[in-house]
Amino acid sequence: MKEKVIIFSAPSGSGKSTVVQHLLTHFDCFELSVSATSRAPRGVEQHGREYYFITPDEFRALIAEDAFVEHEEVYNGVFYGTLKKEVRRIWDAGHAILFDVDVKGGVNLKRYFGDKALSVFVQAPSVEVLRERLIKRATDSPEFIEERVRKAAEEMTYAPKFDYRLINDDLETCLNEADRVVSAFLAE
Ligand code: ADP
Ligand code: 5GP
Repeated sequence: MKEKVIIFSAPSGSGKSTVVQHLLTHFDCFELSVSATSRAPRGVEQHGREYYFITPDEFRALIAEDAFVEHEEVYNGVFYGTLKKEVRRIWDAGHAILFDVDVKGGVNLKRYFGDKALSVFVQAPSVEVLRERLIKRATDSPEFIEERVRKAAEEMTYAPKFDYRLINDDLETCLNEADRVVSAFLAE
């Protein structure tokens, strides 16, 4: 298979993880890219599974070596990024790379990979529906949900920068559309 990349980005609560998990089980060619971070592991997180956990000094040294496809200081002093080595590892295994990243990361990755990549913006039908889904998911406090919703309004403005906008209203319709768009891109 040709070297391919599919990037999924969305404001939190739009259904990005749901779509990505569906694709991972529905297609056997995908591997999820594991980012590197300079933050410490949380709870059950494992090196090489959720992230490659490295020290801030190691992270800075890798930046200096131009080892990253893209990286960002997401929080003060806390770095995140995709290693070129990770991209090579997945392609060499004969797999296509799946990215599950925030909207800024998605735009950066599309710029880097160009025609090798399909970038998809997952969008809830409205901000109100997005809020309801976050409340139902029950993983965040009410304050944090409101912060995510406020941030979503700004993140929505990134939608036109993506190759494809996937509206997640009825879930089955959305997953069928995701299958169709992804199959078409893989067949190119
Ligand atoms: P994200 O990864 O974008 O933050 P999730 O995939 O976690 O979003 O989805 C947010 C919540 O909404 C989850 O609880 C999920 O089960 C639910 N959800 C996703 N898609 C739909 C849909 N089409 N209709 C109703 N609920 C949905
Ligand atoms: P967390 O620490 O909660 O796992 O992630 C914090 C933030 O870092 C999230 O917004 C996530 O999207 C972002 N992030 C994770 N990996 C990467 C990456 O490789 N590049 C960029 N730019 N951001 C990332």
